[in-house]
Amino acid sequence: MFGGFGNFNIPFDCYSGLIESAENNLSLLKTQQRVRRQVFNVFHKMKNRILNGMEDSISYYYQLNKEILDLISELKETATQKEGTKGVGLSAIQIGIQKAVFIAWSSNSRKFLDFINPEIISRSKRMILGVPRANKLEGCLSIPGVWGLVKRHQVVKIRYQTPKGQIVVRKFKGFLGVIVQHEYDHLQGILFTDRVLEQKGKLYELKKDEVGREMLEEIKLITNC
Ligand SMILES: [Zn+2]
Repeated sequence: MFGGFGNFNIPFDCYSGLIESAENNLSLLKTQQRVRRQVFNVFHKMKNRILNGMEDSISYYYQLNKEILDLISELKETATQKEGTKGVGLSAIQIGIQKAVFIAWSSNSRKFLDFINPEIISRSKRMILGVPRANKLEGCLSIPGVWGLVKRHQVVKIRYQTPKGQIVVRKFKGFLGVIVQHEYDHLQGILFTDRVLEQKGKLYELKKDEVGREMLEEIKLITNC
């Protein structure tokens, strides 16, 4: 799959050239190669875990049945598994099931909220940059090790169905608002990295330094072409 980004909107050539990295004193050529490799790695990871084919599913209507309830249980188990990063949200497409279902962690109620057939019906004009927490970077269980600063709507109003069959219309803001937007995006095949790129924002990759300490290294992108 080398040689291009295929389904992604921004052509590979956009990332070539004009990159400079003073920190490590690499030559411009070497830096370009490194950036190409980093960018490719990010997209390669995304493509490998392809989260596609969801364009239509948001309009599907899923009847509540045991299958959907089992799916929600599986999402919760996957998001809270002991090994690896614990998730604050997970959509069905991330475990390979193309259904319009996701879960999002509510810090207030200390549990996951379940969203079936969700539809965002309005979005605030006001945007916020970064997750409203000490660590402002957004990540995704499907793209481990990659983090980014994402601009999101401050408030979204969403209509969804609960596992008990209620139709709920509710506004979400703050951290939960970000999670809801992130997971809703998944259902439409949009990853947070897509958002960062369209906003010409910054992506970071978790690396280890010489002594094994974890550090974030900016993935330098040129997206203005
Ligand atoms: Zn995600």
